[in-house]
Amino acid sequence: MSIREITHFIDGKPVVDTPDRTGEVFNPAAGTVAGHVTFADSEMVDRAVASACDAFATWRQSSLAQRTEVLFAYRELLLARRMDLAAVITAEHGKTLEDAAGEVNRGLEVVEYVCGIPQLLKGAYSEQVSRGVDTYTIKQPVGVCAGVTPFNFPAMVPLWMVPVAVACGNSFVLKPSEKDPSAGNLLAEWFCEAGLPDGVFNVVHGDRDAVNALLTHPDVASVSSVGSTPVARHIYETAAAHGKRVQALGGAKNHMVVLPDADLDAAADAAVGAGYGSAGQRCMAISVVVTVGQAADELVERLRSLTRDLKVGAGDEETSEMGPLVTSEHRDKVESYLDAGVQEGADLVADGRAHEVPSPGFYLGPSLFDRVTPEMSIYRDEIFGPVLLVARVDTFADAVELINSNPHANGTALFTRDGGAARRFQNEIEVGMVGVNVPIPVPVAFHSFGGWKNSLYGDLHVYGEDGIRFFTRTKVVTSRWPDAPSAGVSLNFPHG
Ligand code: NAD
Repeated sequence: MSIREITHFIDGKPVVDTPDRTGEVFNPAAGTVAGHVTFADSEMVDRAVASACDAFATWRQSSLAQRTEVLFAYRELLLARRMDLAAVITAEHGKTLEDAAGEVNRGLEVVEYVCGIPQLLKGAYSEQVSRGVDTYTIKQPVGVCAGVTPFNFPAMVPLWMVPVAVACGNSFVLKPSEKDPSAGNLLAEWFCEAGLPDGVFNVVHGDRDAVNALLTHPDVASVSSVGSTPVARHIYETAAAHGKRVQALGGAKNHMVVLPDADLDAAADAAVGAGYGSAGQRCMAISVVVTVGQAADELVERLRSLTRDLKVGAGDEETSEMGPLVTSEHRDKVESYLDAGVQEGADLVADGRAHEVPSPGFYLGPSLFDRVTPEMSIYRDEIFGPVLLVARVDTFADAVELINSNPHANGTALFTRDGGAARRFQNEIEVGMVGVNVPIPVPVAFHSFGGWKNSLYGDLHVYGEDGIRFFTRTKVVTSRWPDAPSAGVSLNFPHG
């Protein structure tokens, strides 16, 4: 197989470059190097931002009709090429094709949402706030927006940001994960093909150097990022210190509470799908199943049996239910938690190292720990791999307290047949996204996505109404058009 060279996409075309630094891109299913990605230095970032600045001057004046024409065309292209994009994701990330196609679908939803941008950008108008005086609020773009995205959703997360930003009249510079960079380029090329003017959507590749150059660049107006908590905190602090608006989404440790009255078969199915899907490398993956009262033994037995039967294999094989991890380094880190958990006293009910997996490739089978307690490292750390934990508590209140004590607060779920318990849960739980009998409550595109606490730095969530707010700034105009004949000049404050 030939080695791909992946380069930046600036001003509507790939950049021909001889970089000082590159990164390796792997085929995780084969365990081989599949390509090299160019790393941007600050000059390359300057070039991308300059292109975005030039394009912004024109694009901000584009009519809403022009923008929707581009967005509808982009939607059609993405839909028609959904499986091509999914194949690229699977090749570099390792997730199953079905999962990759699902990720594209969730990104497409956001494009569809902003096809309604004329409605979403409507301002507000107050007539006659004083005699002959009207006040109105308009929403204007913020300028050049930057996005920094993680490896685990190389298409969906950029699609959470870019379509919203450009629909609002901004230009964009995306820095995708260096682990699976190709999807970002395809998204940009196809946007140009759909009619987006050159320079409105640029992609620079690289690592922290490229990110830091964006965070401190005087011409970047906003930064949207998704990644681990330490990186989110760094991005939030640095970009804010440089005067930018920031939304920085961080890591997660999502709990799923199972009450004794729940349908245990449905709960076990949900936990296994949400725990091991994408090899546990989802920010909304279930990491901890919290069993309340007598639900524990039966549920653990069901989980053990489902875990044992999971078929691990290459993402492009139809029978595979779970693919490899993204790199061997990450696989080794996840694997190290299996010994740590045993040493700390948890019961290793299913050991992923003993699971049947292909070789070579960055595979690790699914693991299940029971009797996990909050002081264990397997509970405290975001493992971000196929390791599901069970924590046993006595009461509903204990479950709520456990979750509310966790510094991460991205998603959570409750499985029950009791409407009163569900209502109390949604009211008391301190987490940004809540599922009731839904294990992965990722909001649809017309609501917004975001966690609380360490899972999000900033106040506005991504896409939906919050996304429109983030990518626009409001301007309030107070205007006087006196009835003819002219009312003359008044020096009275405020409106005469
Ligand atoms: P990561 O934090 O390692 O990297 C994210 C991005 O930041 C990448 O583009 C990377 O190049 C860049 N980066 C890495 N280190 C940096 C540094 N020191 N300075 C500046 N930039 C840096 O995350 P990842 O491993 O790619 O993705 C997995 C993480 O993302 C998990 O923690 C997961 O929970 C989180 N995530 C969160 C959400 C959410 O919605 N909250 C969604 C997806 C992923």
